[in-house]
Amino acid sequence: MIGRRGAEQNTAPRMGRAVKWRSACLAGALLVSCGGSQGTSPPTRAAAGATAPSPRAARPVAPDAPGTALVPPETDGVAAPASVQDDSTEGPGNPIPAAMFKHPVVEAHRTRAVVLLYHGFDRGSDPLSVSSFNFKRQMQWLKDNRVEVVHLSHLVLFLNGKLLLPERVAVISMDDGMSSVYRRAWPILKQLDLPFSLGITTGLVEDKKRFTMSWEQVREMHDSGLVEIASHGHRHRALANLPQALVDEELTRSRRLLEQRLGVTPSVYFYPLGSMDRRARDLVAQAGYDAAFTATGAPIALGSAHLGEVPRTSVFYSDSIARFSYFFRGFLHTLPHHLVPKAEPLPSP
Ligand SMILES: [Zn+2]
Repeated sequence: MIGRRGAEQNTAPRMGRAVKWRSACLAGALLVSCGGSQGTSPPTRAAAGATAPSPRAARPVAPDAPGTALVPPETDGVAAPASVQDDSTEGPGNPIPAAMFKHPVVEAHRTRAVVLLYHGFDRGSDPLSVSSFNFKRQMQWLKDNRVEVVHLSHLVLFLNGKLLLPERVAVISMDDGMSSVYRRAWPILKQLDLPFSLGITTGLVEDKKRFTMSWEQVREMHDSGLVEIASHGHRHRALANLPQALVDEELTRSRRLLEQRLGVTPSVYFYPLGSMDRRARDLVAQAGYDAAFTATGAPIALGSAHLGEVPRTSVFYSDSIARFSYFFRGFLHTLPHHLVPKAEPLPSP
């Protein structure tokens, strides 16, 4: 689960150990990144609509009630609560409100999602850094173009067939735990009331590196209800071909430290360096993670993504707003004509 804390989190069934990765049929260009994985708990944050309840008031989602049925979409044009059907041991037959979204949920096959991957901010021309000016513009673009920004855990539920989402969806993820996330991105996300996920490399935070956040800063963001926590390993090692002892440190020690420092049990893993192979994918599942994310840069649809290698799309220093909008090309055709960006032409594929 993403972002749930302490005993409350532990009461929710987890998809982890029993999870069966879905078969994949992903197509996407490989992007270089230090993608990682993220353990997520569904924070049931009401989507940032004016009528949505506060994150703390919302009731948590049962993340992996087996065999749950999708709730049919509400009347078109009406922003309605999405739901999962709780047929788990906690409350058989009782629908649990999952989230309130700004935009109406649709039939599952109509949803398209992009998981954005960021690292640092305002770090000069570092290709993995994005200026806070551009970042704010990108976040505003999502709002202006009716893209629903949802929690990572909501996407995992969707991919498991347990939650309906709006038609155009984005998830914001940030890897490594860089201090510039707290200093530069956090004020913008807080101001715009946008949820996001942090992939924490626990060893870096433990070592109190100059360029990483402190546990106090991570905790402050998490306590806001906007942030879900994922594991991004302990020493940021590439998992492919890694000896078993070191795999355990990356997958298990990182999780244990997140539990100790934040009271969060991460259920999603972000592969450091985007490195994974079939063995690593299996080890992540065996370690109890519900899903793992790489950095292969592709839009996501129901059935398109193996839960052990869900693609994320890296945002780089040089990406213009036109390039950024191109990440969402998969569903631009669904935008009303007047909302399709015209100021800068979309680049050729
Ligand atoms: Zn990384």
